[in-house]
Amino acid sequence: MRPIETCRLCSGTDFVPYRNGVYGKDIYICNNCQFVFTNPQPEPRELSARYGAEYYQPWLRPAQRRRREKLWERRLAIVKSLRPCGKLLDVGCGEGLFLHCARQAGFCVAGVEISEFAAAYAKKEFGLNIQQTTLEEADWSPKTFDIITFWHTLEHLPFPDSSLQKAGQLLKPDGRLIVAVPNVNNIIEQGFYRLVKGHYFPIYTAGAKEPHLYHFSATTLKLLLEKCGFQVVAIGADFAQVDPRWRVVEHISSLFSKLTGNQACMAILAVARKPAGETVGSKTVDS
Ligand SMILES: [Zn+2]
Repeated sequence: MRPIETCRLCSGTDFVPYRNGVYGKDIYICNNCQFVFTNPQPEPRELSARYGAEYYQPWLRPAQRRRREKLWERRLAIVKSLRPCGKLLDVGCGEGLFLHCARQAGFCVAGVEISEFAAAYAKKEFGLNIQQTTLEEADWSPKTFDIITFWHTLEHLPFPDSSLQKAGQLLKPDGRLIVAVPNVNNIIEQGFYRLVKGHYFPIYTAGAKEPHLYHFSATTLKLLLEKCGFQVVAIGADFAQVDPRWRVVEHISSLFSKLTGNQACMAILAVARKPAGETVGSKTVDS
């Protein structure tokens, strides 16, 4: 396991257990910027083994696939509202269903995925252009893509800031980035969960099937995007659920957020822009 020495968002070193550990004993919050993260974290080299056939198998069943196709159609509508066509990269593309739908909608698509199983499936089932590696190691040329998507990927990555900076390099100036992540301030979902299960919503447990390494709020996601050189264009609810019961909770959470102005949705969707002729991350990308 890898202990976290400094906050990836503010470089601070003053951490305390998040909410006294009720959401998992390995969850900490930075006292300086309120970024919440898992600590210690699995070693980066061990992560790809977590996403084997067993992880993806439920997604491949026909009923689940149909639900996921509807999810991707909804998300594709968001992408098309930003860019009707162009070169699209999906980071953590999994089994490739989103890229398959995006290609059918007219995008020129590519994916990056650390899972050997998922990358092989995406290539074989859909004939997609996938690099099986981390985004940081991927070798596309700078300024290749019009749009880059992270659909519930960023929270799984060991170095989310470096990943976003690499995305900034791969985007064309004025390109768009979409990042969707679970919301750590999902208070309505937490309430329902406690009601049904009788205990706190576990954000992370060691050995979990879904190893989330970072736990974003709308505020910390926006700050991280800005730190990495992006301009945040919009931030709001992401509708990620495929289970009809949780979709109801998702809509209640989103309505609550709208009525109270408190970002309490189940998941957050941010749209950001790479500035034209300015800096992204620590690198000058255009003069
Ligand atoms: Zn911090």
